[in-house]
Amino acid sequence: MSDAHHELPPACRTVTPFPARSRLLVVDDEPLILEGLTRLLQTRDYEVTAAGGGCDALIALGKQQFDVVLLDLGMPDLNGTEVLRFIADRSADTPVIVVSGESSIDAAIRALRGGAADFVRKPYEPEELLRRIDNILARRRLEKENNHILQRLQQSEKWHRFLVNSSPDFIYTLDSEGRFTFVNDRVETLLGYRREELLGQHYSMVIHEDDIARAEHVFNERRAGDRNARNIEIRLKCNPGSRRPRPMNCRCRAVELTATGMYDEEAGPFEGRFIGSYGVAKDITERKQAEETVHFQAYHDLLTGLPNRALFRDHLGLMLAQGRRNQKPLAVLSLDLDHFKVINDSLGHTIGDELLLAVGARLRQCLREGDTLARLGGDEFAVLLPTLVSRSDVDHICRKIIQVLSRPVYVKGHEIYISVSIGACVAPEDGEMIDSLIRQAEIAMYQAKTQGRSRLQFWESGMQAPYSERMQVESDLRRALARNEFVLFYQPQVDTVTGEVHGFEALLRWWHPQRGLLTPADFIPVAEESGVIVPLGDWALREATAQLAAWHKAGLPPVRLSVNISARQLESPDFVESVMRALQVHGLDGTHMELEITESLLMRDFEANAIKLGRLSATGIRLAIDDFGTGYSSFKYLSRFPIHTLKIDQSFVQDLEREENISIVNAMVAMGRGMNLNVVAEGVETEAQRARLESMQCPEIQGYYCRAPLSGQDATTLLRQHVRGFGAAERAAG
Ligand code: C2E
Ligand code: CA
Ligand code: CA
Repeated sequence: MSDAHHELPPACRTVTPFPARSRLLVVDDEPLILEGLTRLLQTRDYEVTAAGGGCDALIALGKQQFDVVLLDLGMPDLNGTEVLRFIADRSADTPVIVVSGESSIDAAIRALRGGAADFVRKPYEPEELLRRIDNILARRRLEKENNHILQRLQQSEKWHRFLVNSSPDFIYTLDSEGRFTFVNDRVETLLGYRREELLGQHYSMVIHEDDIARAEHVFNERRAGDRNARNIEIRLKCNPGSRRPRPMNCRCRAVELTATGMYDEEAGPFEGRFIGSYGVAKDITERKQAEETVHFQAYHDLLTGLPNRALFRDHLGLMLAQGRRNQKPLAVLSLDLDHFKVINDSLGHTIGDELLLAVGARLRQCLREGDTLARLGGDEFAVLLPTLVSRSDVDHICRKIIQVLSRPVYVKGHEIYISVSIGACVAPEDGEMIDSLIRQAEIAMYQAKTQGRSRLQFWESGMQAPYSERMQVESDLRRALARNEFVLFYQPQVDTVTGEVHGFEALLRWWHPQRGLLTPADFIPVAEESGVIVPLGDWALREATAQLAAWHKAGLPPVRLSVNISARQLESPDFVESVMRALQVHGLDGTHMELEITESLLMRDFEANAIKLGRLSATGIRLAIDDFGTGYSSFKYLSRFPIHTLKIDQSFVQDLEREENISIVNAMVAMGRGMNLNVVAEGVETEAQRARLESMQCPEIQGYYCRAPLSGQDATTLLRQHVRGFGAAERAAG
């Protein structure tokens, strides 16, 4: 709907209509005339009040407002002239038509002078009288409307002025010479100038020196319409003399500017004369500072203020590109303090931190300006030497570093001796990839440590990453567990035909403080290798049961929750106890808990597993064979486990077009049915796959087609909606 009203400010939109019926007061001491007039007027749907004399008229006028008064002049109690005066004094805008028997022109003039709007002589011509009344009412309506509009306009101007002045943005206009002709109040708090101080001044007075050239084009923008300057960042200078406290003691403020040229619209469309410009400047200082802080934090180590790994990688990338151009080799050093952990543990973190600061400062002394020194974490530093002549340069610098660091460091009364092991590699000789160069230097550094510390080792091809690196990742994982950085996500397993949620699979995620949300591929292998998977898997079990209990408590319908179990977990001697404990804490039995174990894992220690899983299944816990179809187990063995569910591996589902896969999946579903097992097809991504699985009578599916793994909260929401949805469907069916 197009409505011209849309362009108007809201205050101008409506013009209040007149009250539906006009109110008339008729005053005459002659009852017959009074009645005649009243009746005449009533034929016109006026609301008529009759007054049989001057006094009655005053009473009526005191009670309410009239739109028109018909007034006789000669009346015994109070004559019309008095009434007229009363009206002129009290409600000047009420129009009066004098209806009088006096025929002299003099009487008419007197009446009009006394404030009457019109004069009609008795005996009146009814049509004529009505026409005059209509005229007056129409005029009055117009006047009222005009008044109303005027009031609204004044209101809206006041409103605009208020908006402009209370705007959080700096708003200004410039004349054609670039001098301020208007600035709003905001300038006082923003820049510390009073408005009068700026009016008439050239805008360059408030522009930061370095931005003047740019400002010429934007602050005093000449273009109008769509091509005007929008969201240009520029710095404004604060009043150096102002004693007003400036936020954060800034000498300048960063603003985002939108400016437009103004043209004389009186002139024709092509000869519009430039008369100045106006602009709005939004203060973005705090945002800029926040951005800078975030940027700094993202690229620097907060303890030492040195570049971190990300910035080091950046620099290295840049220097590699430059090195390729000028054919100069560069070196990457990895430095690690020897026995730092011992010092940190025995003297405490505060002293450890001080020591790292001191080491950073000493390292800096050994380097040139263009070299990059970074702290990669813990007691590990890295150095980038961007231009080298030969390996002996590296040798020379490292000798210096080792020597400088061999002098004792004094921290809070402690005399601390420290040494450093250094690994180095040289590009392009040892490679040209950022990460592999850093890794190679690290590997060389570990080598230096095993060869007696406090020395330099160049990287050589064939060097292996030492065991201690894995220990690092392992301790990261343990720390993450202690700091509660792991979460479970839940992926629904739904009815292939109706979509009803029957269960969820709990999937681990790691909220890594630096790297963000990590999926199992990023950490499960190390967790398994290092054994951290045991406490981690135990945590997942406890977390999953807690979620199950919470859903139970919230009155949501019972669903199955599947938890993945890894080899080390299953093999650990108190596996059965830890599962039972997790359930007991929440007073749950096992009927809604399912454990997902891969086929090959089950077969690994067949007898022992059969006993453990037998004990668990006695409590009602269900067992699912994960990644079913990828192992080589025979059904004869499988049938000795208390299995409830087969999970058809994604690889079969993903390529359901292939004849071979169709028959395998068909066979697996048929087997499941034959053994009275639930079958869940994993990794279902398309409607075509779902439909295929439906035609094969596969009861349940899981995959992105239904839902990606959800946070606990989202899974709960889904479950809630589901109850409602399916409840309604059932009611409708019943
Ligand atoms: P999985 O048991 O085979 O889990 C299914 C994986 O498929 C999940 O990956 C899931 O996000 C992903 N997926 C779901 N729908 C689709 C789909 O439509 N298309 C494709 N391409 N993928 C889909 P995720 O979460 O990355 O987990 C990977 C593996 O990590 C899991 O494979 C499981 O073996 C392991 N894992 C996850 N959580 C745990 C846990 O708590 N404990 C242990 N031990 N292992 C876990
Ligand atoms: Ca699984
Ligand atoms: Ca699987």
